[in-house]
Amino acid sequence: MNGIIAALLEDLATVQTSEQRRWGYNRAAAAMLKLEEPLQAYLQKDGTLRKIQHIGPSSSRHSAVEKSRALRAHFLTRSQVVAALREPSSGDVSLAQYRGDLQMHSVWSDGQQTLEAIVSSGLERGYQYCAVTDHSYGLPIARGVSMAALAEQHVEIDRLNEQHRGRFRLIKGIEANILADGTVDMKEDELRRLEIVVAAPHAALRLTADQTDRMLRSIRTPGVHILGHPRGRKYASRPGVSADWPRVFAEAARHHVAIEIDGDPSRQDIDYDLAGAALDAGCLLALDSDAHSAPELGYVETAVAHARLAGVPAGRVINCWPLERLLDWARR
Ligand SMILES: [Zn+2]
Repeated sequence: MNGIIAALLEDLATVQTSEQRRWGYNRAAAAMLKLEEPLQAYLQKDGTLRKIQHIGPSSSRHSAVEKSRALRAHFLTRSQVVAALREPSSGDVSLAQYRGDLQMHSVWSDGQQTLEAIVSSGLERGYQYCAVTDHSYGLPIARGVSMAALAEQHVEIDRLNEQHRGRFRLIKGIEANILADGTVDMKEDELRRLEIVVAAPHAALRLTADQTDRMLRSIRTPGVHILGHPRGRKYASRPGVSADWPRVFAEAARHHVAIEIDGDPSRQDIDYDLAGAALDAGCLLALDSDAHSAPELGYVETAVAHARLAGVPAGRVINCWPLERLLDWARR
């Protein structure tokens, strides 16, 4: 850490326009390299630094860098995604094997796409199915659908499926919210009315306390198929849930709950690093776009890139299964 911060201070010195400020940053960098203890040892309870000789207030603010770096760890840039998709690989999942997206939102909750638009975008992308997973009624902030509205949506889905029979299938889904205690915001008999249930955390995502029990409980909930964006992290903004992930993944494997790689570029949740751990634990994976509009269906490429970097084979990705196998798994 001392080396990283010293290098940053030197970088900052380079871009200063005033000679005096340049001198100040260089002196701070030199002081950093001479510290006897790692910088963390100088951190006080309130997050500020204890006074260090030759390191002024603007230099010490850069110790916040460590924190903000963690919020950007294991995110891929678009060019890294493109490279991962291009890289010839033996046995890793590829876009060509991908048959359908299992998390997306429509105008029925906070999305901008109609169900018809989802069918046509899906067909355009060569999919065989898409799950419509609007937010559940427990999340009014995301315009969660009531059970009554959901029943109407299902009539509409049945009508579209009749129209596209043999070509494309919309799957009746929901994105249920995992509450702070690990229960899901819908009743068991309500979950049974759906073909695919994604359960995902949307609150308590900035806590540093361990939330393993919360995640374990959500996985054990009957009717949950996919643990959606498991951490709930957001790029450069919040770290998401901290948990004993190998333990969570082992439980998911035992309960046949798939772990999602959410491809929204600001989420990338879970990332390739944790996806490797999920793979080792024997988990199934779901690679989803979390699209709220038609162009966002392309977000799935980010999810596939993470899966490829983790060495996930297509057989472990439920989106690569034929429709009947997927529905059969979901029913069981
Ligand atoms: Zn969500």
